[in-house]
Amino acid sequence: MAIGWFSFTCCEDSTILFTELLNEHFDEWKKLLEFRHVKVLKTKNELRDLDVAFVEGAISSEKQEEEVKKIRDNSKYLVAIGSCACTGLPSASRNEFTSEDINERIKRYMEDFDYSEKVRKLAEVIKVDDEVPGCPMGVDRFFEVLNKYLKLFKVVE
Ligand code: SF4
Repeated sequence: MAIGWFSFTCCEDSTILFTELLNEHFDEWKKLLEFRHVKVLKTKNELRDLDVAFVEGAISSEKQEEEVKKIRDNSKYLVAIGSCACTGLPSASRNEFTSEDINERIKRYMEDFDYSEKVRKLAEVIKVDDEVPGCPMGVDRFFEVLNKYLKLFKVVE
């Protein structure tokens, strides 16, 4: 099963958790999974025909929106990883700022980095097939979802 792992606006704690899980599971997973686009593990990555894309983080710019749509177009299934991807928060905290809070410095950051007015959860931008909530992601639920797709693609019984 070809997988991708992607990060958008977030602290990447679920990515760290995923790499930590490899300490225990790499030998088993390398027989079941092809890490086709996993930047945290390798530099040569291909965004094509992924069976499952795991996407962490919220969407905070038009560029990110384009990128995540491209991932969606190249993936059969897409799983939102962690609270920022599933609900927007805590990455979307700035959506709650009152106008007085948005001082000149924050405004400048938003312009310099071309941020969009609102930070959005993945489901506001693309179709999401499954969610693994938690901050960082809940490991039991991650295993459950991974196993669901391994069965669906007949990699395991
Ligand atoms: S959900 Fe929590 S752990 Fe995951 S990226 Fe967001 S802030 Fe970090």
